[in-house]
Amino acid sequence: KIDMQSAFLANMNHEIRTPLNGMVGMLDLLEDTELDEDQKEMLEAIRTSGDTLLTLINDILDLSKIDAGKIDIESIPFSPSDCINSCVFLLKSKAVQRSLTIDAKIDESVPSIAVGDSARLRQIILNLVNNALKFTIQGEICIEASATNISEDTSLLQVSVKDTGIGIAPEKMHRLFKPFSQIDASISRRFGGSGLGLAICKNLVELMGGEIQVDSIPNKGSVFRFTIPLEVSKEAPFQPKGN
Ligand code: ADP
Repeated sequence: KIDMQSAFLANMNHEIRTPLNGMVGMLDLLEDTELDEDQKEMLEAIRTSGDTLLTLINDILDLSKIDAGKIDIESIPFSPSDCINSCVFLLKSKAVQRSLTIDAKIDESVPSIAVGDSARLRQIILNLVNNALKFTIQGEICIEASATNISEDTSLLQVSVKDTGIGIAPEKMHRLFKPFSQIDASISRRFGGSGLGLAICKNLVELMGGEIQVDSIPNKGSVFRFTIPLEVSKEAPFQPKGN
């Protein structure tokens, strides 16, 4: 039965996302019209609810797609360090807004070009960094990446996302990667979220042949670590554009 539900949801993907995107998109246009203060406030409330709903639905659909075995993992040459740096770039302003610093340390061992699914890698890192930002009140978020060769043409990429946030109690750790696993209802209400992000990360990491784990000390911070085996391209390295 669960399989059927997942297949149904996976097929409904487009039907659900399209009208919702249409509605949220219209808010931008509405914002540019003349509005009084009350109307602006109402519009803001609609936007917040719309964004929350869109995130939730995207997460549910992603998870049901994974469940239904409908996620294809791509094998395309990409630069792992560009992928990581683009995540930092995307979330930097959010960190600054919250007086947090965010930094990426990429070891020389990370191959300049590897074959894999950069969009999924980015999705995982963004998810972990967004969580780190969400659950950290002060301090820093650090992304570290390194790699080891596990065979002649495969490199094991290791990525960690470390925060100085509220941490996770040891007895709650085992629930983390299960769907709808918000550990503390009051915290979740304060920070928002679907409780699906880590379940999606775990599924994606495992689909790509890797592992994900977490270490955490309450009130000190957490480190999420994952590995992904990537094929190392033997072809000539990319020529940067414009050269
Ligand atoms: P969401 O963040 O949408 O609630 P997730 O699956 O990403 O869902 O996370 C599940 C729960 O795990 C969160 O609600 C939070 O309680 C806990 N959690 C995740 N990341 C962190 C973190 N970096 N620090 C502390 N708690 C975390």
